[in-house]
Amino acid sequence: MLQRLWLSPRAQRIAERFDGDAAKGVRTLARQLLADSGISGPPFFPDLLAQHCGIREIRPMDMRQDGLLVNEGTAWTIYVNQRYPVRSGQWNAICAHELGHALLLRHGNGERRAVAWTREEEELCDLAARELLLPLRAIHPMLNDGRPDEAFTIESLKWFVDTFRTPPRMTAARLVESGPWRGLAAQWTPRAGGLGGVRLAWWYGDPPPALAPLRRGLAPAELFGETNRIDHAWNADMPTLGLEALHGRKGWVFVRSGPFEENGARYVISLVRFE
Ligand SMILES: [Zn+2]
Repeated sequence: MLQRLWLSPRAQRIAERFDGDAAKGVRTLARQLLADSGISGPPFFPDLLAQHCGIREIRPMDMRQDGLLVNEGTAWTIYVNQRYPVRSGQWNAICAHELGHALLLRHGNGERRAVAWTREEEELCDLAARELLLPLRAIHPMLNDGRPDEAFTIESLKWFVDTFRTPPRMTAARLVESGPWRGLAAQWTPRAGGLGGVRLAWWYGDPPPALAPLRRGLAPAELFGETNRIDHAWNADMPTLGLEALHGRKGWVFVRSGPFEENGARYVISLVRFE
């Protein structure tokens, strides 16, 4: 496999120590932090990890950003937007992402603060967050070995969300990333302008060629036709599953969809697999 070239100096410094692979480095550092904390979770609450990573405190703040890591003398403080309740899924995800920044600083060149972060570094912090809140060693024993994807349902996803206290979208991405769901995770958010139904907002995983028309803003009907069950999951507020015919093309797509709510915002998550 071709090794990814890391461009930012902070990612490069981590890569140098881990066989040229910054992602592997961040995963290893996150696992070390979990081990140091001795937390046996789930859930793996980030405030219990923070003190093992040079963080003095996590504080709510009235601010525009979701989260911020601030250097204050010899320690860091994480500020989290006060609209997120402490230990809610989003609060956990934001703190864990900021812990990722702290890991990059701690294991970098000894710098104490960073003025700007690159997209690549933000990606590494998201990876660290998934590793911290949804560690593989905790996910895998909870799945039956060799269980076919068909047995993995929207209810299973909800169970992971409730047990690990993580945002649904992040949890779905992790289940794709770590193998239990061999396909795509997609998020659908309400269409604007009183159009009704939902539109594609985000996905995680590699779409197969037949799903090449995947692009942000698509309504499910544009992909799967008028009888799609994604709109149904949204309108009826219930999980749906089925084989969808890909609009205008040969082939079937296996789609499980369900409504989720996060901080007052509703959306639909689909687990998608190409047959
Ligand atoms: Zn960040």
